[in-house]
Amino acid sequence: MAHTPQAGPGEVSGNGAILAVEREGDGWRVAFASEPRTSPQPLWFHVQVSGLSGAPVSFVWEIADITLGSRDELPGARPVLRADGGPWVRAETAAVVELPDGRRQVHFAHAGGADAVAAALCYPYGPAHLDATLAELHGAWERSPIGITAEGRTLERLRLTGVDAAAPRPGVYLMARQHAGETPGSWILDGLLRHLASDDARAREIARSLDVWVAPFVDLDGVVNGNYGKDALPWDFNRAWEPMAMRPAVHALQRDLQRFADRTAPRLVIDLHAPGHCTGDIYLQLPREQRPQAQQDAARAFAELFAPHFPELEPESFKRETRYSSRWNALATLGSWVWDYLDNTPCVTIETSYQRIGQQVLEIADYRAIGPRVITTALAWLRERA
Ligand SMILES: [Zn+2]
Repeated sequence: MAHTPQAGPGEVSGNGAILAVEREGDGWRVAFASEPRTSPQPLWFHVQVSGLSGAPVSFVWEIADITLGSRDELPGARPVLRADGGPWVRAETAAVVELPDGRRQVHFAHAGGADAVAAALCYPYGPAHLDATLAELHGAWERSPIGITAEGRTLERLRLTGVDAAAPRPGVYLMARQHAGETPGSWILDGLLRHLASDDARAREIARSLDVWVAPFVDLDGVVNGNYGKDALPWDFNRAWEPMAMRPAVHALQRDLQRFADRTAPRLVIDLHAPGHCTGDIYLQLPREQRPQAQQDAARAFAELFAPHFPELEPESFKRETRYSSRWNALATLGSWVWDYLDNTPCVTIETSYQRIGQQVLEIADYRAIGPRVITTALAWLRERA
């Protein structure tokens, strides 16, 4: 008689409360829910089941309708699966089930043949992924400590090597994971790191032209711990950019951004995020209407240069007004801070779907391929201002 498999959060960036493990036909049914951890509203999950001995497993993502996003968009969910530590792949299908009391589940499955199966909202990306990428790139990126997180981890910043320190030149400062579970931003950044270290002629031109700085994991503790991190208590990372920072990582980044500003002109900051659970496509979250017109115009100009890289999308769809409510000062964002304290430096906030752009379901290679488009757009935007 088969023993019951073990189920729980994945090892790195793990998140998920296991509600039930039951027999289902010749396999198992594993019901779980996203854990909110530090966020009032949950979303990110990464669970794993071991001891399957090849049996198929049906996953049921319970109470998915309370996660961040519109419940009516849940049919767009396409979680990712991994067997025995191999590559992550999209679930072939996912189906929403509405219960009689109105709660909604998302059902998806692994056909069997493995001993351990992991499932996540989207492709996980943690410090080990970054280490592996940088090891492949042979020193193209210089790694420097810029601070220590609340839990004692070293917060790192990368800088493209070979910069002529004597001459201030156009600069780009990129960030990902202000919200720990928003992994699409990290895969885009991964593609960008690879592109700028490559022999590609356009990449070499960008590397000669720009001083590129990168903060890969703003909420590093949250990334390692598996937090979703949107609206993380006690203070959302992207609302903690008060004149006096409300998070240790934000304080360290403010100091680093000042160093960046002393060495670059003109300059641009790019903040990579992901939207609600099943929001599609890629777009800019524009500065709020209370912000200066010139700041808004800068973001709109970036959107207009970025949109042609995605001919399948309507160009106007890249400019999304930001009106949703906030638990903190909605204006205490990275974008406001760099504008107000770094001599009107613009920041663009790019949101990329957990699942798809247009009709295309996104694989890891697709996310990586967005990185070169981001940095190419940044160069074009900066040249208009040089
Ligand atoms: Zn975000």
